[in-house]
Amino acid sequence: AKAQGRNTLCFFDPAMQAAASARSALEGDIRQGIARNEFLLHYQPVVDATGHPLGAEALVRWQHPQRGMVSPADFIPLAEQTGLILSLGRQVLALACRQLARWATAPATAAWTLAVNVSAQEFRQSDFVEQVLAALRDSAANPRLLKLELTESLLLHDVEDSILKMQALRTLGVGFSLDDFGTGYSSLSYLKRLPLDQLKIDQSFVRDVLTDPNDAAIACTIITLAHSLGLDVVAEGVETEGQRAFLLSNGCRQFQGYLFGRPGPAELL
Ligand code: C2E
Ligand code: CA
Ligand code: CA
Ligand code: CA
Repeated sequence: AKAQGRNTLCFFDPAMQAAASARSALEGDIRQGIARNEFLLHYQPVVDATGHPLGAEALVRWQHPQRGMVSPADFIPLAEQTGLILSLGRQVLALACRQLARWATAPATAAWTLAVNVSAQEFRQSDFVEQVLAALRDSAANPRLLKLELTESLLLHDVEDSILKMQALRTLGVGFSLDDFGTGYSSLSYLKRLPLDQLKIDQSFVRDVLTDPNDAAIACTIITLAHSLGLDVVAEGVETEGQRAFLLSNGCRQFQGYLFGRPGPAELL
């Protein structure tokens, strides 16, 4: 075995081989799931200071015929590595825009916004703007009620290109939210240049906001930063009344988390 190269040894490692074939089985399953429309969206409310819903975030789920409901943590990474995220992302956008159009037909939900997560590869496609426009056009959804959630690393990969795409979509009223804020390599000078509407305080800072002074300081700094840049701020992962009260007293006016509602089918919102 010593004479064989490292790769040869790896190839015959049964554990690694099992992992590799599980991955390719999952890849095939995802491909088939996309073709069979097994992916659907769950919706989690985003509420104002009084607990009144302002809209929701769309979170993809996989209704697998054998595995049951699969969470995105179990398929998004592989979908991203294999490029399948591109067709999955198009389905997600179409489903989200159709839901927005459905809400528009009832007075109680007509003003609700819907936030949709966008992966780096999706956003980097040269025709990303056209894809969003097509989803809006096909559904007749109001672009002003659609928000796209992007991450710092995605935006900073090619700042000029990001700004151009965002501006093109903003012209129509589409909004932009910076997801998981505080977890990336925040470059404050870029933050000022990006045409954003909203920062989302990552749930990792919210979790221990009452017990960890560092997390409390970060959360409060993000709230102040957002306001001084003229942006909205949403706290994610709010699970307790204490967390909500602390964030509220420090100026946060929008909340999302199990305290207000778990992600679920649109009918249950
Ligand atoms: P995210 O965008 O940060 O979404 C928030 C995650 O936090 C969701 O997990 C949500 O269910 C969970 N969450 C909400 N409230 C609470 C709370 O109070 N406590 C705790 N502990 N968790 C809470 P989920 O649905 O499993 O999604 C995980 C990630 O998968 C998302 O993180 C997002 O990055 C990605 N994802 C979800 N849907 C899509 C999609 O349609 N497209 C893409 N590209 N990524 C998606
Ligand atoms: Ca998100
Ligand atoms: Ca997030
Ligand atoms: Ca996250």
